[in-house]
Amino acid sequence: MGKASKDKRDIYYRKAKEEGWRARSAFKLMQIDQEFNIFHGVKRAVDLCAAPGSWSQVLSRNLYLPAKLSSDGKDGGLPLIVAIDLQPMAPIEGVIQVQGDITNARTAEVVIRHFDGCKADLVVCDGAPDVTGLHDMDEFVQSQLILAALTIVTHVLKVGGKFVAKIFRGKDTSLLYCQLKLFFSQVTFAKPKSSRNSSIEAFAVCENYSPPEGFKEKDLYHLLEKVGTPSGADDLDCRSGWLEGPNKVYIPFLACGDLSGYDSDRSYPLPSTEGGTYQSLDPVQPPIAPPYKTALEMKKASSHGAGADTSKSSLDP
Ligand code: SAM
Repeated sequence: MGKASKDKRDIYYRKAKEEGWRARSAFKLMQIDQEFNIFHGVKRAVDLCAAPGSWSQVLSRNLYLPAKLSSDGKDGGLPLIVAIDLQPMAPIEGVIQVQGDITNARTAEVVIRHFDGCKADLVVCDGAPDVTGLHDMDEFVQSQLILAALTIVTHVLKVGGKFVAKIFRGKDTSLLYCQLKLFFSQVTFAKPKSSRNSSIEAFAVCENYSPPEGFKEKDLYHLLEKVGTPSGADDLDCRSGWLEGPNKVYIPFLACGDLSGYDSDRSYPLPSTEGGTYQSLDPVQPPIAPPYKTALEMKKASSHGAGADTSKSSLDP
């Protein structure tokens, strides 16, 4: 698909370039904030799986830059934003970048060090594994990434803090909901208007972090496993069998963003320009070292190799 036709078919892709966002996902976080006011009072934020950085840009523009302007450039007390990804990311004002794996326990230590012993008010995670198209498999790998993010949350989030994580809706959604509900008094699954209806993606918006009494971070996985079993559910003061049959748990699900605003599944006409020709904008900041780069290089090398072989064989008698 050409850039202009993608501009037409994906309004958020076009708007992202017009407004200087590195990815269209920026709108998802902004629409979640419109509904849940997640940025209110935030002084320390963590962006997990941040590259190429549009969520970090949203955090910078909503938290860091306004505070910087109002403090006349004095550095004291400015909001602290730490962004982590496996991939390197081009710099963003007010965002400290850490290249690392969120499934690695040491990543939490790095974040804590940056906060100088203080805890975060907000943790967001837009992490996604490479999607295979096999829904069950994708949902499972995605839930493992969320649980890795939850491990970091239990180390860095302050009591009362908020956590937003991308989820894939599937048959284990209620299990994930119950696991998150152990740690947050309010959990809502939200679908921002900028997230395509055709996608199984949604976002868990978890408010008021309140781990169970006596909770120790090292017991996290033991606790999460218990949620999936009816007897464990009893231990945890949950209704027995609440994940099955007529007692299946009710999950609050909310569409968010301006519902009369742009529809991500519709095509929109391109804006007309003075000369009558529409000039598609380049992406704001392409990823610097995306995982597909090696694959492209290998493909290029093999097609050159194939070309060389062909010419060689055509010259051979
Ligand atoms: N929120 C980002 C933005 O707005 O620009 C987009 C995030 S992108 C959908 C998913 C990211 O998850 C990728 O950059 C990928 O490198 C990262 N990721 C996947 N698994 C990870 C892991 N185990 N640790 C850190 N990052 C990971």
